[in-house]
Amino acid sequence: MTPPASEDALLVVDPQVDFCPGGALAVPRGDRIFDAVNRAMREHPLVVASRDWHPAGHVSFSTRGGPWPPHCVSHTPGAAFHKALDQDRIAHVVDKGSDPDSEAYSAFAGTNLEVWLRARGVKCLYVAGLATDYCVKQSVLDALRLGFEVIVLEDAIAAVDVRPGDGDKALQEMVAAGAKLATTG
Ligand SMILES: [Zn+2]
Repeated sequence: MTPPASEDALLVVDPQVDFCPGGALAVPRGDRIFDAVNRAMREHPLVVASRDWHPAGHVSFSTRGGPWPPHCVSHTPGAAFHKALDQDRIAHVVDKGSDPDSEAYSAFAGTNLEVWLRARGVKCLYVAGLATDYCVKQSVLDALRLGFEVIVLEDAIAAVDVRPGDGDKALQEMVAAGAKLATTG
């Protein structure tokens, strides 16, 4: 007998070295989310993770006039999953931002994530990862647009806060768009 299709999944957005303190585009306290992320992964049978996965010379890099220092260049140590992440629980990885000339904050942008989730009967997506005010936010807004129920795990995300309060504003935007908030455990 095949087990029933799981109706929820956990998306861990960009839990990568470069987004943590010491990395090329560090999120303050980005490395502090992993206890909560690992706890959430133990609670969800189906886990998918995204990676920011850029070619050298990506359009978002300051070297090309973009807003960010070069980061998460594919196959470099900075693009690897952070060592505090319990990688054994990840069933599927989607890479985004691989086109040199387009930015991709959302884990749905140019990936097979939607198809992969629908093939598994997923209706509800729990979201954790980095960073609240960019890739988490855009992934959540896309998931809502695509008709998924979305629950953001507040203790398993962290914001860049380029301007103070950006993370809080992003959370408000996600809630206004229909996301629910929860904590792990
Ligand atoms: Zn990037």
